Amino acid sequence: MANKILLKDASLLNEEGQCIRHQDVLISNGKIEEISDHGTSFSDAEEVIDCSGYYVSPGLPNLHVHTAMNIFKGIAEDVTSDAWFNEMIWPYESKMTGEDVYIGTLLGIAEMINNGVTVFADHYFGENEVLKAVKETGIRADLAPTIFGASKDFPERLDEVTEFIRNHKNDSDRVAFHMGPHADYTCPDSTLSQMVEAAKKLDLPLHLHLAEESGQISRSMKETGLTPFGVLDRAGTFDRKVLIAHGLWIQEEDLKYLKEDTWFAFCPKTYMKLASGKGGFFDLCGRLNYSFGTDGAASSNTLNPIEQARLLGLLGKFLGNDATAFHAQSLWKHLMAGHKAFSFGSGLMKKGAPADLVIWDLFEPDTFPFYHPISGILYSSNSANVKYTMVAGEFLKYNGELKLNVKELMKEGTRLQTELLQRGKGKAEIYF
Ligand SMILES: [Zn+2]
Repeated sequence: MANKILLKDASLLNEEGQCIRHQDVLISNGKIEEISDHGTSFSDAEEVIDCSGYYVSPGLPNLHVHTAMNIFKGIAEDVTSDAWFNEMIWPYESKMTGEDVYIGTLLGIAEMINNGVTVFADHYFGENEVLKAVKETGIRADLAPTIFGASKDFPERLDEVTEFIRNHKNDSDRVAFHMGPHADYTCPDSTLSQMVEAAKKLDLPLHLHLAEESGQISRSMKETGLTPFGVLDRAGTFDRKVLIAHGLWIQEEDLKYLKEDTWFAFCPKTYMKLASGKGGFFDLCGRLNYSFGTDGAASSNTLNPIEQARLLGLLGKFLGNDATAFHAQSLWKHLMAGHKAFSFGSGLMKKGAPADLVIWDLFEPDTFPFYHPISGILYSSNSANVKYTMVAGEFLKYNGELKLNVKELMKEGTRLQTELLQRGKGKAEIYF
């Protein structure tokens, strides 16, 4: 790996969606060392990439994903959310092996790097395998080992996760952790408070599912007299930084609970696929810190945050009957703001920022011609437009090719796919 890399004569797309042409970017020690007008002499660069036909932007964040679920991509199609959880996914997951988690995570990471993702917030069990896969690939990840409060081994599981995080907290500057309760509806109140306590002790933020279906709101009101947001507040959750997966059914009265560091990972493809309805998010999102998650591939089939931003834009226009709403530049800003939900300091096109970048080639049949690169990316792009993906100055996708051995991974995936179908479904302990 070259230590000093020069991206020569690039058009930069910054986090605000502005385009700055003819720039040279020097990368050194995993960071952006210098950005200057094209023509500056950087004689010590070990590798020079001619970017005169390319756009360079910060890498993409994915704020909510169950990466290992790539092994289940396509296993539960066109079913209700109730059947999806109770009859398909949780019964299959109950017989999942460590190898399924490991290979599934590698497959998911390969897909993300291919689409320009440089950092993701994972929410899954099997954390040893997830961490192993993350370290092997070089991508940045924030892991929230999932905990079901309603599970009978909850106390042991909380201890196990606490111990795991304590042991690996300082492993790498590309790995961080969240405490990961599964959801308010799978974690009785006292267990949620215990997880908040554990997060406080470890100085961690929390990452959990919330308010993804309207039925969860009425059930919560009936059982506790509070909305799911109110339940979280009662457990002290909002005293910490929180990453809320979904929050689709947020209501006006929930806004009072939110803090400056409460983040939403919006995953519209899952909501469309599982027919989750038009929640309050669409009307209230202007008052929220939000960015995009892909959710797991078993519900959304793809791990591309651009597609999620695109779908929010299209849905927002369609549902609000307003073609001027959710314009491309604002979607891009929200997409890039997602980096703030992490602790890595990435997502900025400036000197000293981590060199987590995407080099876009928009001169491809799907994107060409374009009149503004941001709308070209948001409305027309796909993974073929991601020419290079770089994390901490290291290329994980180079000139259109992934560094990971995808052929070998797919061979392993095919074997595991056969095995998991033969093993069949087990009995899930938790119900949706
Ligand atoms: Zn999820």
